[in-house]
Amino acid sequence: MANDLRTECCIAGGGPAGLMLGYLLARAGVEVVVLEKHADFLRDFRGDTIHPSTLAVLDDLGLLDAFLALPHQEVRELTADVYGQSVTIADFTHLPAPRPFMVLIPQWDFLDFIAGEARKLPNFSLRMGAKATGVVEEGGAVVGVTVQHIAARDADAEPQDAGGACEIRADLTFAADGRHTTLRESAGLASDDLGAPIDVLWFRLPRDPAHDRSQTGGYIRPGAMLVTLNRDDYWQCAYVIPKGTLPALQALGIPAFRERVCTVAPFLAAATSTLDDWDHIKLLEVQISRMPRWYRDGLLCIGDAAHAMSPVGGVGINLAIQDAVAASNLLADALREKRLCLGDLADVQHRREWPARVTQQAQIAIQNELLGPVLAGTTAPADLPLPLKLLQRLPLLRRLPARLVGMGVRPERVRTVPRAR
Ligand SMILES: Cc1cc2nc3c(=O)[nH]c(=O)nc-3n(C[C@H](O)[C@H](O)[C@H](O)COP(=O)(O)OP(=O)(O)OC[C@H]3O[C@@H](n4cnc5c(N)ncnc54)[C@H](O)[C@@H]3O)c2cc1C
Repeated sequence: MANDLRTECCIAGGGPAGLMLGYLLARAGVEVVVLEKHADFLRDFRGDTIHPSTLAVLDDLGLLDAFLALPHQEVRELTADVYGQSVTIADFTHLPAPRPFMVLIPQWDFLDFIAGEARKLPNFSLRMGAKATGVVEEGGAVVGVTVQHIAARDADAEPQDAGGACEIRADLTFAADGRHTTLRESAGLASDDLGAPIDVLWFRLPRDPAHDRSQTGGYIRPGAMLVTLNRDDYWQCAYVIPKGTLPALQALGIPAFRERVCTVAPFLAAATSTLDDWDHIKLLEVQISRMPRWYRDGLLCIGDAAHAMSPVGGVGINLAIQDAVAASNLLADALREKRLCLGDLADVQHRREWPARVTQQAQIAIQNELLGPVLAGTTAPADLPLPLKLLQRLPLLRRLPARLVGMGVRPERVRTVPRAR
């Protein structure tokens, strides 16, 4: 096809994993094309957390001060209101990181920031509105992807007709296309579903920045859990429900749902009047899964495509970015010098599988031991669950969840150096 292209590395997916990887590889002198199926990053179902480990990565890259100049919030402790008692769950202030706090920032701002830095590199290209529709195979290896241009594309991309198609051939293709990955299946790679008993309802409520003193936080009441993210003039709310129960909730009607939200977080009572249609409430399906094998000749899966993370603990973005850092550390030289072999791809899985496995096990334990009983409950227990009671009484213990959430298991640092093309 006239618009076909050849590059060294093609990355499907412009989320945290794909964009960070694209930037890191391009900075290390590899020619990179990133494909993002949406026309912009302005979608509202992404996590908003940037962890201390990612701040350390930005520091390695010399981008930390510029990033922190963007409007954001700094969270030094994570506190939840559990059956009316305030429990500090994580204390980030002791973490071994250049900035021991978590940043809350709309994810589109983070992605725009990374994309902006990456675009300064001549060997980086980001194609927006470009959906990878499948892998191209030759001689048993993946040699690229087929692409459908589904929306207005990025200004610096080659002109393509909306609706047009092309093929991009690459020495290595990455599937960083999230938990509903297209490329994984197209490449015939398997994934094990580890089960997630929850889904999330995602909606906005107005917030008055001048008068509202409440901040980002979590609220647990019998049968309900709500997380509210302060986005200045509105609250981004995540209401956790047992998987598959949305139809039953809808059958009770929207006023009943408003009532539930007010019971969990009474400070939202006035704001919930704006919630007058189920169309304002998005269902986000939670999934935990992991691929037994993340790669085959010519293709490597990273981030949620390789190991879909539950929102529990808000750690999926962290893991996705850590995968990107590890992949660029391990593969950039081999890619640039055209000596990449299957063993290099295996090395990336070997390095990152254990952190994903440990984190997912922790998420499953929290889902089953803490969230399950909360959602099934009709009355508040006489006592807080033991782990929360310990966290309330022993401040030193709060450093442990802070470590798991803020740094993750086996945090990565950037080992590549900038190379001009
Ligand atoms: C309800 C919910 C809330 C969450 N909240 C948090 C949180 O607060 N903090 C946190 O750390 N984690 C959170 N997570 C987990 C987190 O969102 C993921 O782990 C993380 O986004 C994974 O990053 P990724 O880059 O691998 O994939 P994604 O963020 O899913 O990015 C994939 C990208 O690929 C694009 N894409 C998809 N298919 C194609 C294709 N065929 N071609 C081209 N592009 C494609 C998508 O548009 C998207 O931009 C949450 C998850 C859920 C379900």
